[in-house]
Amino acid sequence: MKLDKTNLVYAMSKDNEVAMRIDSLDEIVVETCDCFTETVKTESDLISNLDWTKINPATGPIFVNGAEPGDVLKVDILEIEVEKQGVMISAPGLGLMGDEHKKELTKVVPIEGDKAIFNESIKIDLNPMIGVIGVAPKDEAIPTGTPFDHGGNMDCKKIKAGNTLYLPVNVEGALLALGDLHAAMADGEVNGTGVEISGKVKLRVEVLKDFKYQTPLIESDEKLITVCSRETMKESSICATKMMQEIVIDKTGLSAEEAGMLLSLVGDLKVAQVVDPNMTMRMEVAKKYLK
Ligand code: CA
Ligand code: ZN
Repeated sequence: MKLDKTNLVYAMSKDNEVAMRIDSLDEIVVETCDCFTETVKTESDLISNLDWTKINPATGPIFVNGAEPGDVLKVDILEIEVEKQGVMISAPGLGLMGDEHKKELTKVVPIEGDKAIFNESIKIDLNPMIGVIGVAPKDEAIPTGTPFDHGGNMDCKKIKAGNTLYLPVNVEGALLALGDLHAAMADGEVNGTGVEISGKVKLRVEVLKDFKYQTPLIESDEKLITVCSRETMKESSICATKMMQEIVIDKTGLSAEEAGMLLSLVGDLKVAQVVDPNMTMRMEVAKKYLK
């Protein structure tokens, strides 16, 4: 089954018209547009010419049969395929160095093999990832550019092929949507964009009826990773850490205090991104400490 990229939404909302219905455990391929809805194609397409109503499109929403509020959606990210050309932008006021930037700049970044060609001498290893992925919130719609408890624009480089993302189900069918692939991005996304690119994602989606941990949560072969997006890095850090503390207590039987000690030793607190409307932090713990 395949969902093409004409089915775009710019907000995660319970009121979005369903683009596709799938069953639990179905595998699907979702085509996605880059975060500019493919309006930035050359280096003369600058940020000031952008249509701001067309930023961060997500393909969807996908109604998952049987998903009820209170369930959890297990999303196995099987493959991410990016196209042959990505783009980056820079602009005054954008990102952590925005006050240093005097002019707008767009860079076209060709993809060759497993490298993003930044320039003739700097070729960057690809780490394809999904920037925007989430479900409809229970109440008011949330723009696709904003990350929060429903997922959204988390811009977390661990949301990549081989890993599993757990998302909450807030409304019947969950209404999963995704987009904003990056061919490459570092933790922080400090200048405001990764290598923004269109592509395809192959997913397997399963409805879990008795998942007991808070979401969004990522699982890799070796790690559990809690993810939280709040207004400040401090708030997001506290939130991601407490999410992990709950898991540690449940899995090990340690007291809250000892779980805290353990997280001081094996809980790597990392930045996902600090340039979106909420800041996204994550905490990573090796599963070998959670037996
Ligand atoms: Ca993004
Ligand atoms: Zn992006």
